[in-house]
Amino acid sequence: MNEPPIPRQPVRPPPKGSVRRDGLFLNPDGSRAGPTTAQIWRLMRERSERAAWPLWVENPSFPAPAPPPEGHVAVTFLGHASFLIRFHDGPTIVTDPIWSDRCSPFRFAGPKRVRAPGLAFEALPRIDAVLLSHNHYDHCDIPSLQKLRDRFAPTIFTGLEVGKLLARHGLKNVVELDWWQETALPQGASATFLPAQHVGARTLMDRGRTLWGGFAIRPAGGGRVYFTGDSAWGPHFEDIGHFAGPFDVALLPIGAYEPRWFMQQVHMNPEESVRAFQALRARQALAMHFGTFQLTREAIDEPARALGTALAAAGIPEEDFVVPGCGQTFILPLTVA
Ligand SMILES: [Zn+2]
Repeated sequence: MNEPPIPRQPVRPPPKGSVRRDGLFLNPDGSRAGPTTAQIWRLMRERSERAAWPLWVENPSFPAPAPPPEGHVAVTFLGHASFLIRFHDGPTIVTDPIWSDRCSPFRFAGPKRVRAPGLAFEALPRIDAVLLSHNHYDHCDIPSLQKLRDRFAPTIFTGLEVGKLLARHGLKNVVELDWWQETALPQGASATFLPAQHVGARTLMDRGRTLWGGFAIRPAGGGRVYFTGDSAWGPHFEDIGHFAGPFDVALLPIGAYEPRWFMQQVHMNPEESVRAFQALRARQALAMHFGTFQLTREAIDEPARALGTALAAAGIPEEDFVVPGCGQTFILPLTVA
């Protein structure tokens, strides 16, 4: 007698969109997103324990970014979470663009940049699309978005409910996306908005009212690029690797992680970034979110050093997860269908 075939179980449940409770978006694991007010006050009281950063760092000089050959992507690190991403047949994208001196609601206070942007605004090629991971000041810089609008009028792709803030500042060419929602980008490319463990906020009062996330980008000619935005470590990276990966290149945050009691709910340390790199099934990773604005306690060179230690411990060659220079361009092959 033939045995009935063993039914194949899906390894992971299919991905779901975001979930809100009492009007607030939750993390992918269903937990409340972001720190509590009590945790924020405690962090502010402990401000004096921050390492001293230099007031200014000169960027090394790199050749101007050139468009990539066929079958390749050119990724230029502009500092913090800003990248210029160019595909051979388009589109040309910037992520979380910030050219301002401070990432803050104020011009006179708040984290100040300690190095120039990796490319002067005037030196940008034509920008077709902006990918905006969330509305924190170091990712969503209104003056930079307005300058991009005035010069190129690109479409801004971002999370649910972020558009109202943008519209108040005259930024109306906006597409809001839910987690796992796919959208067309210019020149036949597409993108999927992806979950992250983080939070959206502009003030102490609006935590969780707007959605945050990352992007998988697929140009028309094939290939996959992943941009994290901000995220703590979580099993959602395995979901992203499973359902949206593998990736030719993953842009992964490595900085702004101390003190852990506070930061581990919103940002990864380098050891966790290496875990995310493995979970994403990416061939190459480029580090981001370090060395431009002091947001947290660790020293300016600590993320790169800790990344080296974490890669060695995991047996991963350093050239697989590179810390880019600010302004450095990487021409990488696109092989994922
Ligand atoms: Zn953030």
